[in-house]
Amino acid sequence: MATELSTALLQQIANEYGTPVYVYDADKIKEQYKRLITAFNTDKVRFFYACKALTNINILKVLKNEGCNIDCSSINEVKLALYAGFEPKNILYTSNGIGFEEIEEAQSLGVIINIDSLSNLEKFGKKFGNSYPVGVRLRPNILAGGHLKISTGHDKSKFGIPVEQLDLLKAVVQQYDIQLTNLHIHTGSDIKDADIFLKGIAVLFDIIPHFPHLKSVDLGGGFKVAYKEDDPYLNIEELAVKVLQAFEAHERTRHLQIWFEPGKFLVSECGYFITKVNVLKETATTTFAGVNSGFNHLIRPMFYDAYHRIENITNPQGAIKEYTVTGNICETDTFAWSRPLPEVREGDLLVFRNAGAYGFEMSSNYNSRFKPAEVLVESGKPRLIRKRDVFEDLLRNQIIDTE
Ligand SMILES: *Cc1c(COP(=O)(O)O)cnc(C)c1O
Repeated sequence: MATELSTALLQQIANEYGTPVYVYDADKIKEQYKRLITAFNTDKVRFFYACKALTNINILKVLKNEGCNIDCSSINEVKLALYAGFEPKNILYTSNGIGFEEIEEAQSLGVIINIDSLSNLEKFGKKFGNSYPVGVRLRPNILAGGHLKISTGHDKSKFGIPVEQLDLLKAVVQQYDIQLTNLHIHTGSDIKDADIFLKGIAVLFDIIPHFPHLKSVDLGGGFKVAYKEDDPYLNIEELAVKVLQAFEAHERTRHLQIWFEPGKFLVSECGYFITKVNVLKETATTTFAGVNSGFNHLIRPMFYDAYHRIENITNPQGAIKEYTVTGNICETDTFAWSRPLPEVREGDLLVFRNAGAYGFEMSSNYNSRFKPAEVLVESGKPRLIRKRDVFEDLLRNQIIDTE
């Protein structure tokens, strides 16, 4: 199968940099990007890495050097992308629920903008008229994704301009002579079925003829990867064939570029989160393995009921027993209920797989614990790309009366 970091290397990294620690495999990120390029095999299609999944500058640079573009969800992500060396024309800012000042700032930085509300589009039209091309995010009213919390295109979702408001959208575009060059949808995360994208495309095909300046259609991200051994995942090769066929079949859509914004697909599987077992606790019903982490470092299991594979890399040959793996935070922070694992002993290293996307990025200092370190492995060589917090980090920005 695909590239993986060896247990020996993960152990070495844990020894050298301590735990908990996030480890990323640059070769895996490159491999995923190449899979996309190979599957689509046309310069009609552009990929923008949805960087909110993992924004460490070193990771952004890996993707930039591969030729990937970048999708940002805040003005600060736009600034990180510029800092990492992306050119403004390769940076997409897909905003939602933001103040108009942020859109003005993005415009002044020269990046590509997708606007998510009629209200901001109107302000944009008033200020910039036809002088700066812009895209809009639509809400296609399609339910997609692995969990309601990560579904963004359904008919109660806050995201995008609802397609039933097409007439209002057209009116704003006409009134200010807006150069509407891109239509965007992003229906959710963990989409395993290529046909969901075809449904979105069908909705867009009805809207495309209304906007003569269109140059591209942006189908968002949300490509599902496997979290469990036998998890279904989105078949990229099938997606490529189906999407390209759909656009070829319509005279009006053949000239359009097709954009995607994968986050998880590019950086989920590259990530390993290494923790150490602090305490074992036997109770009448349960054996708890308490690790030196919690939802302050990896919140996906608690927030989205997400499943992460766990490996005991210290005792891989141990007899299989069931453990409930918990953290050390004063909340119920259970990573896994009754999970079969090779016998766990205090001090063993437990590794959470698929920890690259929305892992470190969603971490916090809750319970005044330090955020973990981050290590990047490139061509087999590890290097520290973020130091673990130290005590001063907890006090930074606090205003302390010393009298
Ligand atoms: C989060 C997000 C993505 C990426 O989603 P993944 O599930 O990580 O692929 C893409 N586009 C937009 C607009 C997003 O908000």
